[in-house]
Amino acid sequence: MKSHSITLGILGSGQLGRMSALAAAELGIKVHVYGPDKDSPAEHVAAKSFVGSYTDKKMLKAFANSVDVVSYEFENIPVSTIRYIQKIKPVYPDDKLLEISQNRITEKKYLNDIGIPTAGWAAIYSPEDIDKAVGELGAKSYILKTTRFGYDGKGQTVHKSSDSAKRSFNKLNSDELILEEMVDFKCEISVIIARDKYGKSAIYGPIQNVHKTHILHTSTVPAKLDAKVAAKAKRIARKLADAVGLIGVLGLEMFVTKDGRILANEIAPRTHNSGHWTIDACAVSQFEQHVRTVCGISVGDPTPHSAAVMTNLIGNDVNKIKNFYETKGACIHLYGKTETRNGRKMGHVTVLKPLKSTRK
Ligand code: AMP
Repeated sequence: MKSHSITLGILGSGQLGRMSALAAAELGIKVHVYGPDKDSPAEHVAAKSFVGSYTDKKMLKAFANSVDVVSYEFENIPVSTIRYIQKIKPVYPDDKLLEISQNRITEKKYLNDIGIPTAGWAAIYSPEDIDKAVGELGAKSYILKTTRFGYDGKGQTVHKSSDSAKRSFNKLNSDELILEEMVDFKCEISVIIARDKYGKSAIYGPIQNVHKTHILHTSTVPAKLDAKVAAKAKRIARKLADAVGLIGVLGLEMFVTKDGRILANEIAPRTHNSGHWTIDACAVSQFEQHVRTVCGISVGDPTPHSAAVMTNLIGNDVNKIKNFYETKGACIHLYGKTETRNGRKMGHVTVLKPLKSTRK
């Protein structure tokens, strides 16, 4: 099939789906979106929208039959939904990557198994496991996290002692948690990688990220990193993408320690918030790579033509948008969400600057 006559289905109808649908439109590719909410960011720009739950098989079937290929923009879609759709149409990235990244234990285990280091961690199923883990990890402080459905710091608590972590265990009311060593990092980075069906990849980053109350606040490129550390971060992302046989885009969040080690923290099996600057600073954005790779088109050039700082507009920050109207190099992106809520990502602004030449 010719790429420009493809219809792409996207599960999830938030801002990531919206930005992929906008990129698809530029390639002449139609997008149908599927999500639980009416009047969603992706629905506003999609050719067709299906509003239903991720377990409504009748609706999922109609959606799958209306498109040529399916992808997703949200990692908490049940794996069973992806497997159901896979019987009807191809889904990229596949169920394997989704399953690995849905649970922090399988994610960390997979990363370690393929030789990618992470912070020390232990699976926690009972308060006694916490005593054992604290004894084994021997860290100064710990972070206790739910293994599933946690994002932007939800379901996470920081502890200095085993007793305080045990109190949290009882409060979190979950039968599976992960206790991680709290990393005293120098900085947080991410790498975004797109990989096509031919095994060719395109890499963005490393991107330097600053979080506020566990939510991404700014992403800056180029990151202020030693060239060797930057190269290592890219090698790690490529290793992961090759190991999972990625077709699509993934984001890998990592910590850089003060002694130059890189510890992987989280895999996003989709386009990533820290890559929004690529829309304005690169010939081919992460969203276009997403559309290209899942629709069978080869990856494009990810090289940035500008330096960029992307700032998320979270909750009431959206009211500050007028401050950027006249800012030099500011590219404004609002997601069309009518209700402003605390912690809700309403939009982002990318400010571009000329890239400093490294040539003398
Ligand atoms: P996560 O949900 O794992 O992406 O965590 C959200 C944010 O919490 C990260 O971007 C870090 O700023 C912080 N964080 C999470 N895990 C750790 C850790 N093991 N050590 C230090 N900071 C962490």
